[in-house]
Amino acid sequence: MKHKHPKGLSILFFTELWERFSYYGMRAILVLYLTRETLGDNPGLGWSSAEALALYGWYTMLVYVMSIPGGIIADKWLGQKKTVFLGGMFIAAGHLTLAVNNMVSFYTGLALIIAGVGCLKPNISTMVGGLYKQGDPQRDSGFTIFYIGINIGAALAPLLVGYIGEVYGWHYGFGLAGIAMLIGQTVFLWGQKYLIDVGNFIPAPKLEGVKTRKPLTRIEKDRVIVLLISFVIVIVFWAAYEQAGGLMNIYTHDKINRELFGFEIPASLFQSVPAIFVIMFGTIVASFWSKRNLKGKESSSLFKMAIGTMVMGTGFLMMTGAAIEAQDGGKAMLIWLILAYLLQVIGELSISPVALSFISKLAPLKYASIMMGIYFAATGLGSKVAGLVGELATYAGELEVFAGIFIFCLLFGSLLLVFFKKLKALTHGAEEITES
Ligand code: GLN
Repeated sequence: MKHKHPKGLSILFFTELWERFSYYGMRAILVLYLTRETLGDNPGLGWSSAEALALYGWYTMLVYVMSIPGGIIADKWLGQKKTVFLGGMFIAAGHLTLAVNNMVSFYTGLALIIAGVGCLKPNISTMVGGLYKQGDPQRDSGFTIFYIGINIGAALAPLLVGYIGEVYGWHYGFGLAGIAMLIGQTVFLWGQKYLIDVGNFIPAPKLEGVKTRKPLTRIEKDRVIVLLISFVIVIVFWAAYEQAGGLMNIYTHDKINRELFGFEIPASLFQSVPAIFVIMFGTIVASFWSKRNLKGKESSSLFKMAIGTMVMGTGFLMMTGAAIEAQDGGKAMLIWLILAYLLQVIGELSISPVALSFISKLAPLKYASIMMGIYFAATGLGSKVAGLVGELATYAGELEVFAGIFIFCLLFGSLLLVFFKKLKALTHGAEEITES
């Protein structure tokens, strides 16, 4: 790395790493806990899979949808820094409440986590943007580093929380997630000295006791419009990508040959593969794009998002290959799944950290957190749609659904390539100022 990143980045990196550890760890055992028999060594709640997946779908959607109130709280009252801390306390309290074995604590714990992630997730992302001045070329790479931190948490958590939860008891697993969040809070508190100028509340100007609201300029309005349109891409992207935890997970269990050196790898282990790929390829994909940019070739965020959607969609061509191979009741080769995840992650790296950086460049300062909140709500909506698309496979068949997603992503990405220049014009050069 040529230039140094601000110290504050490492504080936000580790705070978010532990937050994501707690989130993905708990998520990895939630459905297992819900569906496990009520009797036995490590009893669960005995729900049917349909009931468990329904709760899982609502939960994963709500945690992100709550980013909208989380963003509003930061913009209107607390500023991002205090809202992040408050969110972290809610999350820790939520996981520790889940560690208590009764139904009231179960629902209370989930509600606390939903409220907490809503407060923390969008605001910590906006704070990363706040570490960089307008026009700082380090901003994109700062977000890539932050995104790698997220995925270190996401890769480790299913293994550790999953192991503790399955072997020692679900409630110990939930408790471990709570402790992880407390570690994140400690890092955040300790690092306050590096975050002095970022995430503070910006009060609206007051004139003789009367509130004045400065309206957005034409340029600001255009930028907000382009952001809102880009959120449609985000919904489509996550609706396809999030098959990973649902349909692809079940498919891996049922129809992928998971035997390696005579040992059958448990399907849930593959849930860490995309996160591991993000860690491996995060900087490679980012430097591919920045080299292209330096050569003066098209590399605007909207272009990256279009290409990212198409590359991710190609992952579903691999899944289609697997489904063709397994059509006659046999099992498909593991390589299909690995290639599918690889392509999905390369697509993800061209969209997800890019979108975070894009929002922090385009959103008017006073709406910075709420725009980030709407972005995460869009990803949550995408995850919910993913569940519905995954369900389609029970009627239409996996092959048809995988092939359908592939074709849809390709067409959607092509459509974006046709229109992205018009959208880019609406950013009024926000990209050019910030990337050099
Ligand atoms: N996997 C990323 C994270 O957990 C992105 C998730 C999302 O944007 N919905 O932060």
